[in-house]
Amino acid sequence: MSFQTEESLWIRVLDHLEGILEPHICEHWFSHVSFSGFDGERIVLSVPNEFFLCWLRERYGAVLDDAVRQVFQKEVPIDFCIRPEENSKTVAEKDVVKSVKALPVEKIERKNSSIQSTGQNGLRLNPNYTFENFVVGHGNEFAYAAAKAVSESPGRNYNPLFIYGMTGLGKTHLMQGIGHQLLRRDSSKKVMYVTSEEFTNELIMSISEGSQSRFRGKYRKVDILLIDDIHFIAEKEATQVEFFHTFNELFDQHKQIVLSSDRSPKEMRGVESRLVSRFEWGLVADIQPPDFETRVAILKSKMMQKGYELDDVILEYIAKSVTSNVRQLEGALTGVIALMKLRGNGSITLEQAEQVVRDIEDRNQVPCITPESIFRAVAEVFDVRLVDLRGRCRKKQYVLPRQIGMYLCRLLIPSLSLSYIGELFGGKDHTTVLHSCERVEQELQKKGETYRLVESLLKKLKGE
Ligand code: ADP
Ligand code: MG
Repeated sequence: MSFQTEESLWIRVLDHLEGILEPHICEHWFSHVSFSGFDGERIVLSVPNEFFLCWLRERYGAVLDDAVRQVFQKEVPIDFCIRPEENSKTVAEKDVVKSVKALPVEKIERKNSSIQSTGQNGLRLNPNYTFENFVVGHGNEFAYAAAKAVSESPGRNYNPLFIYGMTGLGKTHLMQGIGHQLLRRDSSKKVMYVTSEEFTNELIMSISEGSQSRFRGKYRKVDILLIDDIHFIAEKEATQVEFFHTFNELFDQHKQIVLSSDRSPKEMRGVESRLVSRFEWGLVADIQPPDFETRVAILKSKMMQKGYELDDVILEYIAKSVTSNVRQLEGALTGVIALMKLRGNGSITLEQAEQVVRDIEDRNQVPCITPESIFRAVAEVFDVRLVDLRGRCRKKQYVLPRQIGMYLCRLLIPSLSLSYIGELFGGKDHTTVLHSCERVEQELQKKGETYRLVESLLKKLKGE
């Protein structure tokens, strides 16, 4: 495919998005996204800055993935790069595309807001995710101790190490800390860090290319395998079979396996029981949100790393306001620092800090909720499979969950159009979606079982 035709595919993706999203959303977000290339496997898009990228991915990542899948007619992973500043606004779109192609770009991994560096033997670790940069406190001390122990004697005592906890609490950081520590001691060690989504995509690719033995060789000859967000393999049967064999082989050779997940093995749905039981063979460690003192310590450590100083009153204010997620805590700090820089004199008042935190809270309300998180929550509460939830079967046990799923998408992600919600749920048209939402609303009025279920789903999705 030539660059020209690939670019025209991207234009079709944009057309598709225009049909799905409200015009102002398209204008606000997607007019700043440019196509930078396609290497036959991955599409590269460029965006103005990392902050924009985080928001784009959180809010519209799933929608974009879907649009790309439809236009390219297959699963195509997306890499993002940051456009050099001088190009972002002033130059015409076409020029930006050309200049970005010619410039070295920072490659950013999907689904992980951190910049990754590519090192030897396929290792990609964020240089900041070391044990030294990890603040130990209430909520994470056990997981930290477990990670340290594993890094000291990999493959011995705790195999696998299974770390679980809510998003933004440091699972990826700890896992990568193990990788750094091992390499520091012995740089010849083969450390493999991969998200389970990448593992799945690579497997699919290897099957379609008939290169499965290469895929197997790659994963089965490592010294330590770090698989992030393993919950993603739920409902993916072929991936689970492949992973099961990889697991066994590494385990038999006393090679260390570390897994992270947003839930404990017991709470896993749609994962074969033989895998779930293996997850529990070694050590299962959870991470809980940090307490106030730990939040202050994390903020202080991040300030030191960034080379800034902030008044204790302001630090404590941030630590009091942002309580459940370290990523958001860092986001608030970044916002405050940005304001300090903007003001030039390096100081900031408490009122200004309050405004920054309020803005971030407002923006954070919706972004964590994606169609994916809604599907998962609904499927779990009703104990139905994702394929059935999103399928066409009209059996009674699927109809209500599906209607509630549509209702929640409409309620929680206002940027989704009715017809797009219909597409997400097995190709329904927009009137069906509207009708479903109305049905749920009527049920809610009765304050019965449906009301209770929806209440608990809302709580769950909002992380309350
Ligand atoms: P998860 O994988 O659990 O979603 P991450 O490991 O990506 O979370 O952490 C989110 C951000 O918060 C990262 O930038 C990480 O460095 C930071 N972070 C989380 N916990 C800590 C901690 N205890 N000390 C320092 N930074 C932390
Ligand atoms: Mg993570």
